[in-house]
Amino acid sequence: MTVPSLPLNDGTTIPQLGFGVFKVDPAETERIVTDALEVGYRHIDTAAVYGNEEGVGRAIANSGIARDELFVTTKLWNDRHGAEESKRALGESLEKLGLDHVDLYLIHWPAPANDSSVETWEAFPAYQEQGLVTSIGVSNFDHRYLPAILETGIIPTVDQIECHPQFQQVQTRPLLTEHDIRIEAWGPLGQGQVDYASTVIGEIAAAHGKSWAQTIIRWHLQKGHIVFPKSNNRSRMEENFSVFDFELADDEMTAIDSLESNGRVSADPADVN
Ligand code: NAD
Repeated sequence: MTVPSLPLNDGTTIPQLGFGVFKVDPAETERIVTDALEVGYRHIDTAAVYGNEEGVGRAIANSGIARDELFVTTKLWNDRHGAEESKRALGESLEKLGLDHVDLYLIHWPAPANDSSVETWEAFPAYQEQGLVTSIGVSNFDHRYLPAILETGIIPTVDQIECHPQFQQVQTRPLLTEHDIRIEAWGPLGQGQVDYASTVIGEIAAAHGKSWAQTIIRWHLQKGHIVFPKSNNRSRMEENFSVFDFELADDEMTAIDSLESNGRVSADPADVN
């Protein structure tokens, strides 16, 4: 199975389906990421604050998979904003990952109380020039925080942001489309907190002989989102990867779209500092 790659606005490409490691126990990360790589995932999404970059790095090193077949993302935590500090933080992440570069580096949150995300963002292109990162982007920058980033003239490739059928980033999406910034949908399955099986998604899933989770992942893919569901469980990793042998019809896509209810399941970026 080859996962499709999507073009980014900087001329690079990204595997549309990956594996996320938020809340993956550092002690178990190597095993879990090894499982994910064996299942076929080639795109791993981690972050400095997850505390598991070393485990991701060990799994990559032991996999024998060529570096250029892998896509690795990490993120700058809120207490490392600023031009000098972010450079140090990136160096630490690379060391923990055991890599000389990451494919994508993100500012994890706008962290408005710091008031330093624009200064931080302006430092990011230098990391590309130095070969430390291939692409740059932001995370959790919604319609309130994205305009200041866009004013710099440095356009992010992606915005990694909470996005699932009941919270579709309605206010932020037009800005992203206008600037050709891809949505990376975090919490793509509602972090397991929404009973999606009891909604129309359950019916659509049954009609395709698929699970509710596969149906939501398929919805994301057909929306053009980049998605990296997380699971510690290998059979669910396989389930979440097995989403390229069916297609949702337009009316099924519309039915899932209609679940939008401004139903955030996690933190508001205004409150994360
Ligand atoms: P998710 O929506 O992927 O939900 C994960 C949970 O869903 C699992 O813990 C499990 O309980 C359940 N699940 C997974 N597969 C399932 C299946 N097939 N059937 C039933 N239940 C299943 O949530 P997430 O982990 O928060 O998001 C995915 C990734 O996004 C993260 O691992 C991380 O890489 C990234 N993320 C980024 C941010 C950010 O601020 N940038 C925040 C949260 C997550």
